[in-house]
Amino acid sequence: MEKILMKNPIVEIDGDEMTRVLWALVKEKLLFPFVDLKTEYYDLGLENRDATNDAVTAESARAIQRLGVGVKCATITSNAARQKEYSLKSLHPSPNATIRSILDGTVFRKPIAVSCVKPSVSVWKKPIVIGRHAYGDVYKNAEMYIPSAGKVELVYTPDDGSAEKRVTVMDMKGPGVVQGMHNMDESIRSFARACFLYAIDQKLPVWFATKDTISKTYDGRFKELFNGIYEKEFKAKCDAAGVTYFYTLIDDAVARVVKGEGGFLWACKNYDGDVMSDMIASASGSLAMMTSVLVSPSGAVEYEAAHGTVQQHYYRWQKGEKTSTNPVALIFAWTGALAKRAELDNTPALGGFAKKLEEATLRSIEDGEMTGDLARLAEPAPAKALDSWEFVDAIAKRL
Ligand code: NAD
Repeated sequence: MEKILMKNPIVEIDGDEMTRVLWALVKEKLLFPFVDLKTEYYDLGLENRDATNDAVTAESARAIQRLGVGVKCATITSNAARQKEYSLKSLHPSPNATIRSILDGTVFRKPIAVSCVKPSVSVWKKPIVIGRHAYGDVYKNAEMYIPSAGKVELVYTPDDGSAEKRVTVMDMKGPGVVQGMHNMDESIRSFARACFLYAIDQKLPVWFATKDTISKTYDGRFKELFNGIYEKEFKAKCDAAGVTYFYTLIDDAVARVVKGEGGFLWACKNYDGDVMSDMIASASGSLAMMTSVLVSPSGAVEYEAAHGTVQQHYYRWQKGEKTSTNPVALIFAWTGALAKRAELDNTPALGGFAKKLEEATLRSIEDGEMTGDLARLAEPAPAKALDSWEFVDAIAKRL
């Protein structure tokens, strides 16, 4: 059989633990036999990050900027326990945070639907994608416990020496708590751009919601900037692509989400996105069925699974067990990246392959061949759960 050719490479970012094991398996069984795979490879396994003083992480992000498309395996975020386990020279920030800050991206999370696993919200027919603004608000706050009565103020001191501004937060009559938060106009604009780029690419309606009736200046600014980017930069492109934009209050959005059939991009402020993406993931089935894509305002994209390195399975695998770890989100990270490469390079055979691999994966599950996490949820329940190797073979057979 002749292999499908690629014009340009994608950035391949390898990772850690069980997902690293599955990464090699997916390539060996589902990609190499069919595609003449061209990648620029970066090893973000914890040992190599430590050996390069984490330089490899920034290099991989810059490679995505250059080549436009990347695919990433899950990676360990190091902490004291991992430092001991891997005898690390030092602790480094989360690779995802480093890559996100270089690409200035927004993260979109989308559940992969299969007919035998029903969402807990019975009216949902199509996936709901969460676009989370991953900068600022309560995640970069300053907070204080106030021990006794006193006045709490916000003070702005301009760099140019002009008059300072003060507003009273509260004349506190006794003990309590207080916090200050911020966001930046440019970050909000980047967020809006990434959402519209993603929505046009995926042909999805865009919803955005805040609480601007209560937070007139803070949330009001989000609403104004998001709407402004739509009107000035994207309205014509959205109209041409048949993509609609809808702004509403966050409480109204939540009420509509649980009554509607899904099938839209829900652009969320940082905290809303944090909470709602976990709600959507768990209501849709399994964490192993959630894809994640980082979209930079430049259009560069990085695909990955939403889950982590599945640490406990890895320890069992090291002892010789064939674990039943679900590789679906990893497979969809690869198909997402290959399909994007095909679109940019105008190579329809590669795009066709990505689609066939997704179909073969979903068909295996719908035919009753699946890993343990899904077998526990599926109706009808399969006779047995497959291990990862049997499951990948089941997909390869259909492919
Ligand atoms: P995890 O996603 O690896 O696991 C959370 C739970 O979900 C576990 O019970 C696990 O068994 C289950 N699970 C997740 N994926 C599964 C799959 N494919 N098949 C079957 N079950 C699956 O998250 P964690 O345990 O919090 O973190 C483990 C490591 O992963 C940590 O070192 C963390 O830093 C890292 N992490 C990386 C990323 C990333 O690179 N994107 C994201 C989250 C966590």
